[in-house]
Amino acid sequence: MGMTKRRPEEKPKFRSIVHAVQAGIFVERMYRRTSNMVGLAYPPEVISTFKDVDKWSFDVFALNEASTGHSLKFMMYELFTRYDLMNRFKIPVPSLISFGEALEIGYSKYKNPYHNLIHAADVTHTVHCIMLLTGIMHWLTELEILAMIFAAAVHDYEHNGTTNNFHIQTRSDVAILYNDRSVLENHHVSAAYRIMQEEEMNILVNLTKDEWRELRNLVIEMVLSTDMSGHFQQIKTMRHSLQQTEGIDKAKAMSLILHAADISHPAKSWELHYRWTMALMEEFFRQVPFFNAFLNFASAGRSVVHPACGFLDPFLMIMA
Ligand SMILES: [Zn+2]
Repeated sequence: MGMTKRRPEEKPKFRSIVHAVQAGIFVERMYRRTSNMVGLAYPPEVISTFKDVDKWSFDVFALNEASTGHSLKFMMYELFTRYDLMNRFKIPVPSLISFGEALEIGYSKYKNPYHNLIHAADVTHTVHCIMLLTGIMHWLTELEILAMIFAAAVHDYEHNGTTNNFHIQTRSDVAILYNDRSVLENHHVSAAYRIMQEEEMNILVNLTKDEWRELRNLVIEMVLSTDMSGHFQQIKTMRHSLQQTEGIDKAKAMSLILHAADISHPAKSWELHYRWTMALMEEFFRQVPFFNAFLNFASAGRSVVHPACGFLDPFLMIMA
């Protein structure tokens, strides 16, 4: 681990990483003392909010305030440090910070009340909680843990605050690009990988070819699985595989974890759930004027299905 001396050729053991994460605040602080020498400086308020980072009740809005609007960057940095991913995958610290900042800019592009960098930080934290509190992290490899945290952080990158249905019905550029299939989700992964084509943002620069490929396959599958249209199929597939004697498809299980984290706010405290629901409602109703403008345009000659029937489904509003 980061604090114990080891021979350079000796690889960090996964078991020891698990223990370090579970050891809590004491180890966390030791890490911070070393990592901060070359890494991200934590304001005292941020350190204070991270005392609860292993708890389901963690308040991501408090972190966002403490970090003056940088909850995603700090959450990523914190979890990459705690799972020792920077050492294991030789991730350059400045690249991780720049990548986190670039993600935050993309998440802020459309000023969404809900699908913004706080939601990304929240889902990243929730994925960590699910892995830690259920013990699933013991079942995952280090690369799979990296995939989980990375996929959670990028899963709504450059979300424009509308639904896939909106894109499809208004025949937007991205809908045309992705042939109406998981339009936004395809964009989130693609655009996040595009950032890493900049050398100084490439956090995956030191992964082997095989690691890079495996990570990419997992991340694509996980982020595409956050498309709500696949929700019932995902549940059905998992139910079915739990009844089988042969092992569970790991990528599918990981996808379900991310999907569950993405729609987890109804399972959080009332205060957090209420705040997220209000934000989601606001975002949802913001797209209505755009809709109406499109419908007026369409009624001048083109035939369209009224997309509002899908939008007004309260179930989808909660789960979007
Ligand atoms: Zn999301």
